[in-house]
Amino acid sequence: MSAELFLNSGVNFVVGLALLLVWNNERGQNFVHWMGLSFLVQAISPPAFLVWQTGSPAWNTIGFFTLITAASTSLTLWMVGAADLAGHPLSNGRIAMGVAGLIVTGGIALWYEPRLAQAFGATLTTLAAIVALSWLHRLGRYERITGIAMVLLGLNQFIWVACGNAGLPLQAGLATVLRVVLGLALLHAAVSRSRGETGHLRDQFSHLIERSHQGLAVMQGETMKYANPALLRIYGLPADGGPKIATGKQWRNSTMPEAERVVARERHRRIVVGEIAQDHWEGERRSFDGRTLHLRFSAWKVDWDGQPAEQIVVTDDTARVDAMQTLLHQATHDELTGLPNRSALQQRLRDLCAAGQPFALLLLDVDRFKLFNEAHGPSVGDEVLRALAAGLAAQLGQQAEVMRLGEDEFALLAPAGNAANAAERAARELVQGVRQLLTQSFKLPERRFFLDVSIGIALHPATAASPDALLRSANAAMHEAKRTPGISVQFAEERFERGSGALLDAEQALRAGMNSDEFALVYQPKVDARSHALVGFEALARWNRPGIGRVEPNEFIPAAERTGLIGPLGNLILTLACQQIAEWRETFGNIVPVAVNVSPLQLLDPGFPDLVVRTLRHFNIPPALLTLEITESAAVTHMEQARERIGQMRAQGIEVALDDFGTGFSSLNMLRSLPLSTVKIDRTLIDPMPAPDATAVVKAICDLAAALDLEVIAEGVETPEHASSALAAGCQVLQGFLYAHPLEAKDAAGWLRARSAPDR
Ligand code: C2E
Ligand code: MG
Ligand code: MG
Repeated sequence: MSAELFLNSGVNFVVGLALLLVWNNERGQNFVHWMGLSFLVQAISPPAFLVWQTGSPAWNTIGFFTLITAASTSLTLWMVGAADLAGHPLSNGRIAMGVAGLIVTGGIALWYEPRLAQAFGATLTTLAAIVALSWLHRLGRYERITGIAMVLLGLNQFIWVACGNAGLPLQAGLATVLRVVLGLALLHAAVSRSRGETGHLRDQFSHLIERSHQGLAVMQGETMKYANPALLRIYGLPADGGPKIATGKQWRNSTMPEAERVVARERHRRIVVGEIAQDHWEGERRSFDGRTLHLRFSAWKVDWDGQPAEQIVVTDDTARVDAMQTLLHQATHDELTGLPNRSALQQRLRDLCAAGQPFALLLLDVDRFKLFNEAHGPSVGDEVLRALAAGLAAQLGQQAEVMRLGEDEFALLAPAGNAANAAERAARELVQGVRQLLTQSFKLPERRFFLDVSIGIALHPATAASPDALLRSANAAMHEAKRTPGISVQFAEERFERGSGALLDAEQALRAGMNSDEFALVYQPKVDARSHALVGFEALARWNRPGIGRVEPNEFIPAAERTGLIGPLGNLILTLACQQIAEWRETFGNIVPVAVNVSPLQLLDPGFPDLVVRTLRHFNIPPALLTLEITESAAVTHMEQARERIGQMRAQGIEVALDDFGTGFSSLNMLRSLPLSTVKIDRTLIDPMPAPDATAVVKAICDLAAALDLEVIAEGVETPEHASSALAAGCQVLQGFLYAHPLEAKDAAGWLRARSAPDR
């Protein structure tokens, strides 16, 4: 009898062990684990039964407890395994309760009556097995066999209940067979489930890889082992085109720039031997259908069919990079002509300056371009610019970068060699090219036209070293060139820039200076042509600019006129002059008139005559002591207003002189039409005297003035010859360095004092 029991125990042990070994490899299959444990624990039951059956009370007790614990634990693990197999895993709490409950109830039953206990155990096992069968029979063939074997094992236990020990060999024998069947069914279930799961996983993965938008390749040496559909799509191949790319080498040679191939081979080698764990790079590639691709790559080592390989993941960045380049192109190119724009020029200048490379920068501005727009409309203007842009690019595109800076302004940038004067030579060649281009007419659909341009040239590093300074210099030179009609060229010179830079600064500083007493007047005496006695002063403005020194009116008056500051500045000067007149009057009593210069723009203000009268009244000055000198050009351009304002002031008793006569758009008729008191002949007419022709001109003016009853003053009298010829020509009053330079107020007061001295 014991042989059957030991066989049973051995079979349980072996099957249990086999199940645990399977579980060890397939940790996901928990039911194999529980069933394996159940079989191992069950292997204890037959020997425990034999021990319990021995006569000795001690062994009897040990056997009893071992048997009941083993049977209960085995049954519980069995149910846990079955539940897991059926997809109803039990919680740990339930398992513990199951073991404990079985031990207690089974133990009590066995204590009272072993057969009753066996009947209880058999019933419980059978019921549990029926429950398990109800779970398992729908799942699959091996699961069903498992359930049936379990039910049969439960029923098998009733043999001992019915036949006692006599039935034991039969029960043990049947149990052994059933347990082998159960074990095999479980192993099958485990293997087929694990195969199913592996297949499922594989399906999921290949799904992911096949549908991925990222390209995926596996390279082993020169062979491309795998390429997913995304990779083929990215490189412009049909989905079944992968196999046509027989080797990785072919792939590389067709898609990769030559310079990168060596790098790629070396990277592959280092990844495969494990020198680098991972690498990321990006680059430009060519697709098999000829497009340019921008790709990002990541690669690492993988095992492929037991051999090391490189797995490469490819992200297609082409759309993003293209969009970025389009934006960049838009930002750095001119929409009308497609040429690089001002910001592109600035970037290029920065690059070239940083590289220290000699180059020539030419700024071209079309002369009188406004006329095209005004005469033919802006669309013709646009066509002109497009035609010029195309002409420049065709004629000079090989030698220089052609750019459009806006409006009618273009730039040419020509890098030069390091040889002496190379940049200058490059500039001259470009100018030659521009001249050639512009000697021919440009043809628009409806007309032909000729263009002139003014060209300013700055050279790096001869003119300046920084992009801003170069642009400023070339711009100043271009404006200088504008002064000359026709195609004109000007190399940058420091003085052009100084002029424009100073102008801008002056405009800014003027506003500040007006409020802080920086303006003062100097006084130049006017003398009687015969007696040389003092007959008047001309007040001339000076600006004591902090940090710079004395600034001449020819510099700041035009700036004040441009910025609209001439009004307030003129008022200030008028006030300063009247203040001085009042002071001298108080000191010397009888003094000479003082002339104040008036800007053309001041004369446009209808309130100007009133303002003059108010100022005179404020300082209590007789109008006869003030003369206003009006520049000839101002009077000419605004004849009507000039006549009206001058008339108003004359009516108040203020003398008005026409200044700088003979310089601007002279019209002798003007002398007749304006209600003037005096005419001042410009020093450019006095300077050539006593040359007979110059003297004749001055004499003619004096004769006319005499006929019109105007006093004549000669300006710029520097020599006794000037003085005598001016007198001979008919000038009554002389002013110039021969008598005095413009004087500070205290020195001018010296002249007044001398005049009022009793011995004179
Ligand atoms: P302007 O009214 O014809 O003044 C005469 C200019 O000739 C003065 O130059 C004077 O210094 C200069 N000058 C006088 N004698 C001689 C000479 O013998 N030889 C030479 N070469 N030059 C002589 P300045 O003071 O530089 O003034 C230049 C111009 O600026 C003035 O010409 C006038 O048009 C304008 N200006 C001066 N002060 C004022 C002002 O307060 N308001 C306005 N609106 N313009 C002013
Ligand atoms: Mg003057
Ligand atoms: Mg003058």
